[in-house]
Amino acid sequence: MEIYEQDHLQELIYTQLLALKKFQIALQKDEFIMPDEVMHAQRQLARHALMMEREPLVGTSVWAAAMLQPVEKWLPEAEALFDPAAPLWENNGWSREAEEFMQAFGNPEEYQEQTVAKVVTYCREFQELEGDRFQEAYVRFRSFLSDPNRAVISEDELNKMAKSFSDEFLKQQLRACYEPFPDWKEARKCPYCGWSLHHQNGLWRCGQTNICFQLEKRFSWSLQAASPFDFSDDTHVYRLRPGIQRYTLIPGIPEHRIAATLASTYPVELYPKVDRFDIGIHLANQVYYVDVKCFRRSTHLATYIEQLEEEELETFRTDACFVIPDEYTYEGYIQHLQSRIKGLGVKVYRERDFYRHLKRGELL
Ligand SMILES: [Zn+2]
Repeated sequence: MEIYEQDHLQELIYTQLLALKKFQIALQKDEFIMPDEVMHAQRQLARHALMMEREPLVGTSVWAAAMLQPVEKWLPEAEALFDPAAPLWENNGWSREAEEFMQAFGNPEEYQEQTVAKVVTYCREFQELEGDRFQEAYVRFRSFLSDPNRAVISEDELNKMAKSFSDEFLKQQLRACYEPFPDWKEARKCPYCGWSLHHQNGLWRCGQTNICFQLEKRFSWSLQAASPFDFSDDTHVYRLRPGIQRYTLIPGIPEHRIAATLASTYPVELYPKVDRFDIGIHLANQVYYVDVKCFRRSTHLATYIEQLEEEELETFRTDACFVIPDEYTYEGYIQHLQSRIKGLGVKVYRERDFYRHLKRGELL
């Protein structure tokens, strides 16, 4: 695919996704006002359809109906960028494919809960002024949010975690990452991420897009055999907000596992330089950095890497690499990825290959 055409199609999908979120928010308000983004997305798509000599989707109801259909039905030429069998919108939210596309192509502000982003900014500012105290606090903050055992907790535990920060802002932000979860007795505990499963059409599902279900085949558990939570009857229970579960907890699990594996051989730090990377490995003469990327499809990781600034790309050629956790890779993942990004010269490894290369000193 020509680069300009790829950029155009990515932009087109991105515009539809933002419009869908705005449309949903507008529909929830008492007085419906059509968001400009929705009109803009429809116009862009209609222009594209005419250019492709296809009948344009005219009117909001026709447009919204198409967004629930597989992308191949209304944008078949985006096949290399977006799973053609997936819709953009599913179960009253972005589809899983759409979520991953946004993580690759959008800005974190558009999908992440603001709490985590605010804490990064805050800790970076103070780290510059005061040094490592905020680095340590940031690592603790992120580690709480990446721990399956803290995904659903009692009020007492939440209080204890908040108290572990001396800084008032961090205390508040930690609390803001959780929401009351009064229905915990009807839920089950996800065997992967520890968050709450809900029952839908006779099956237990994790989160709006059932993200952990995809990992079942890699592990020996099943969401359908999950246990209930074991709090005592009158406990006030809290859980991570859905956005934190999706964008911090889920990727945080392999980040911590990889860091723990490395830590058995090397001195390792988590989220070095207040989250500029996921892991820093202290080797004899330098620190080598790792960014763990949990994209289920290599297409999205390719999109993510293609969008990095030249300065960041340079780091991933010399002092850092991307590592894809074993549960996210499949046969041909790396080959497909390399075929998209071969000109960029950045280093990308599967988790298990990464350990091997590191041991042999082949990374640098
Ligand atoms: Zn889960």
